[in-house]
Amino acid sequence: MDKGQNTDNRAITIKLLQQRGVSIEDIARLVLELQKGYYPDLTCEECLDSVLRVLNKREVQNAILTGITLDMLTEKNLIDEPLASILRNDDSLYGIDEILSLSIVNVYGSIGLTNFGYLDKVKPGIIGSINDKKNSAKNRVNTFLDDIVAAIAAAASARIAHRVRAVPTDD
Ligand code: MG
Repeated sequence: MDKGQNTDNRAITIKLLQQRGVSIEDIARLVLELQKGYYPDLTCEECLDSVLRVLNKREVQNAILTGITLDMLTEKNLIDEPLASILRNDDSLYGIDEILSLSIVNVYGSIGLTNFGYLDKVKPGIIGSINDKKNSAKNRVNTFLDDIVAAIAAAASARIAHRVRAVPTDD
């Protein structure tokens, strides 16, 4: 896959997130929230840039496309049982939503893992809204979306932490 294709897929990914009620600015705000205690000079623009860099990665795009597609197919009743009920109820023993999201978190190494755990537990900002929407709208399935958004924010935070410590990276 060439660079142009990757950029096209990033645009598709951003559009898909938007369709599900999540903007890249929402995710950037989570990053700022996570990192401002460590880096008081950090700006919202830098956080947004970091989110976009994370979304450039093919494995990240693939995880997002896969997870959101499963949420949407479940809403459209296009998934067979027993998986349909598991996804609809966001069964806590399912766990594949977290596993899929780890492929995003791991892009910048295990430093993202703590952030991911924190976001998953506290559910700040847009992650809380995603969860509320799932609980209030009858046919809404966001089983993958909440973990995906937390994972993008965690990876973008880890990327900032790596860069501040001046570890050379190619992205
Ligand atoms: Mg989930």
